[in-house]
Amino acid sequence: SQSRPIELATPAPHRSRQARVTWGQRVVTIGGNAPVRVQSMTNTDTVDAIGTAIQCKELALAGSEMVRITVNTPEAAAQVPYIREQLDRMGVDVPLIGDFHYNGHRLLSDFPACAEALSKYRINPGNVGKGDKKDRQFGQMIEAALKWDKPVRIGVNWGSLDQELLAGLMDTNSQRAKPWEARQVMYEALITSAIESANLAVNLGMSPNQVILSCKVSGVQDLIAVYRELARRCDYPLHLGLTEAGMGTRGTVFSSTALAILLQEGIGDTIRVSLTPQPGEARTQEVVIASEILQSLGLRVFVPSVTACPGCGRTTSVTFQELAKEIDDYLRAQMPVWRHQYPGVENLKVAVMGCIVNGPGESKHADIGISLPGTGEAPAAPVFIDGEKAMTLRGENIASEFHAIVERYIAQ
Ligand code: SF4
Repeated sequence: SQSRPIELATPAPHRSRQARVTWGQRVVTIGGNAPVRVQSMTNTDTVDAIGTAIQCKELALAGSEMVRITVNTPEAAAQVPYIREQLDRMGVDVPLIGDFHYNGHRLLSDFPACAEALSKYRINPGNVGKGDKKDRQFGQMIEAALKWDKPVRIGVNWGSLDQELLAGLMDTNSQRAKPWEARQVMYEALITSAIESANLAVNLGMSPNQVILSCKVSGVQDLIAVYRELARRCDYPLHLGLTEAGMGTRGTVFSSTALAILLQEGIGDTIRVSLTPQPGEARTQEVVIASEILQSLGLRVFVPSVTACPGCGRTTSVTFQELAKEIDDYLRAQMPVWRHQYPGVENLKVAVMGCIVNGPGESKHADIGISLPGTGEAPAAPVFIDGEKAMTLRGENIASEFHAIVERYIAQ
């Protein structure tokens, strides 16, 4: 017989350095013992300053702790200080990250107000320049980061990988007695590009604490392989995300699978879920999913959790699904206010269950729970509060009465 307690499942500790991304009084730490951060990216044209500022605000309100915006042209760079100003005016102090490709060195030096308004620069070593220009242009971006005291993310992506570096590694591989698989050479190229660029930034004067790395790929197993190795080879804070994850359910499931495995191993200090929005879908959905991934692993708590059973043939009506959704929507909608009014409310656990098979048990595990009557059961819904049966609701108004009980519980 087994006499040892079964080991608890907890995410491994994160072992990276800690970076600081700031705007005004707002400091977002990334890595070290900081909570895993949620970030997102706008999909507006940055030239549309008002539209971009509004989307940044929406993302920030949804829980994005940093928001990245594309800075791709002189016109876009010219609008960045104005976007920042709009956000400050609305009381939104979320740090903005500038996403640069190809011409970042020029934009950062030609538009100092843009360089100053951004809180972090994303540099893609795969397209910062070719040949002799590569190190010079990379150096110019680091110079701007040093001048304005900003952290950088060295963001490698396998869709825009440094082709010279890859060709060199392919060449070396072909001379091996036992050549690696092409995929393994690709992994090596991604990691080498990130770490060599980070080391170059440090040699140019950046503090290693202000360099964040990412190596994004679009395959789940590829991402796991690359980040495990990246985490093994360096202690820079890691930005984690599955790039081009796709739309809807696929994007959500693929991102959740990849990120959860790595986060459980203590890998990943800030995450972004890259979803392709479906027509009519809010951009903020990627923030909701990123937050849920962290909450599901017990790494962060953002909103009260509502446990609901899936329903089955024992469910007598749709009341319990409607009630579960209503309570969930209500709790989420109240959070921006409640967070300040009722500290700790995000830890609340509510259960809404469809019959007595699992209803009372699950309700007892929650702070407050209800078990609605299933097929063949008496038309009564026991309510449990703090593990004890507190009352039984009957009649037509069970949903509204339970809603009121949840409100009173929170207020108390
Ligand atoms: Fe079905 Fe009851 Fe289980 Fe819900 S709790 S899934 S209604 S058996």
